[in-house]
Amino acid sequence: MTTLPMIPISPDGTIGGAGSRRAAMPPRHLADLDLAGRQALVAELGEPGFRAKQISTHYFGRLVRDPAQMTDLPAATRERLADALLPRLLTPVREMSCDDGATRKALWRLHDGSLVESVLMGYQDRVTVCISSQAGCGMACPFCATGQAGLTRNLSTAEILDQAVYLAGVAASGAVAGSPARLSHVVFMGMGEPLANYARVVAAVRRLCAPAPEGLGLSQRHITVSTVGLVPAMRRLAEEDLSVTLALSLHAPDDELRDELVPVNQRWKVAEVLDAAWAYASRTGRRVSIEYAMIRDVNDQPWRADLLGRLLAGRLAHVNLIPLNPTPGSRWDASPKPVEREFVRRLRAAGVSTTVRDTRGQEIDGACGQLAATEVER
Ligand code: SAH
Repeated sequence: MTTLPMIPISPDGTIGGAGSRRAAMPPRHLADLDLAGRQALVAELGEPGFRAKQISTHYFGRLVRDPAQMTDLPAATRERLADALLPRLLTPVREMSCDDGATRKALWRLHDGSLVESVLMGYQDRVTVCISSQAGCGMACPFCATGQAGLTRNLSTAEILDQAVYLAGVAASGAVAGSPARLSHVVFMGMGEPLANYARVVAAVRRLCAPAPEGLGLSQRHITVSTVGLVPAMRRLAEEDLSVTLALSLHAPDDELRDELVPVNQRWKVAEVLDAAWAYASRTGRRVSIEYAMIRDVNDQPWRADLLGRLLAGRLAHVNLIPLNPTPGSRWDASPKPVEREFVRRLRAAGVSTTVRDTRGQEIDGACGQLAATEVER
């Protein structure tokens, strides 16, 4: 590779161009507001304050997103509240499933025509949803399908949450056989760079964890925010007093290769990004998850395993190796299994806890790095 993609960073630190133009944000929704904000709005509409709790219970408690189903509200009230607080944010375009229904991908159209995707993964002991934080992504990682199309815009807090509420409803309906009915885990590993949409993502995390009816009542420890390594935002997240897991998409232990694989490394180098990760770990007590896509003959050499092992030894870290998922037009493949096994062996020999992630959802292009939100029929 000769030319490296550059990431636009504006003087105020805004990354990827999202803040540089007035993007078409959606109308306000109750999930954008905390309970007090909803109560204030309901009062402004001339309705009694308890209505805020009532519709919040429908939405976050019972996972009812359609105002027509909130039949305990008088019709006129329902209409007024629905107009002000429950605009339709996500229009379903297509839903696909694989693994006998245990993995499902939902493709959505937003109010401005942007497309985003979310994925539900049912396991024996838990249900995880993987949600998008931006339409597209500005980080330009060359092995990731989402990175190829660039950034359209940030999602609103409610657009982020509505994906989780919808998929929690799918799980609650018993659609995922052999898995619990209750959503337990949320990972910000869908489309977009969550820390480039910082305030809305943090608000969404707070609402995911607030008890019903303010939010979904998930445990902070069951939320994972994944980042390419936006150092100032990582440091800010450490100060939020949240016990969420931070995942860092490292993919290379050396700056020369990481500059290419994760172009934002041209701004914040491996040493700086790892420093910020350790600061997060010591502040929160949470083990940082180091994400590393295994790309054949690119980043999978034994010496890179050893270097990674030296960087991580003795740290509060866990390595998640992700066999590279195929993306359209990519010239890269996943590492062969023996190479992957040797990489794991060397990391473990260095004392670094390491696992290989399953590649759920490959057949429906729902696996890591495959979310591109195209409408093309396949
Ligand atoms: N922008 C954030 C959130 C996306 S998470 C981040 O990069 O962390 C998606 C994860 O899948 C990231 O770790 C990303 O690097 C990884 N990924 C992207 N493309 C992939 C591919 N083709 N195969 C395997 N993993 C991939």
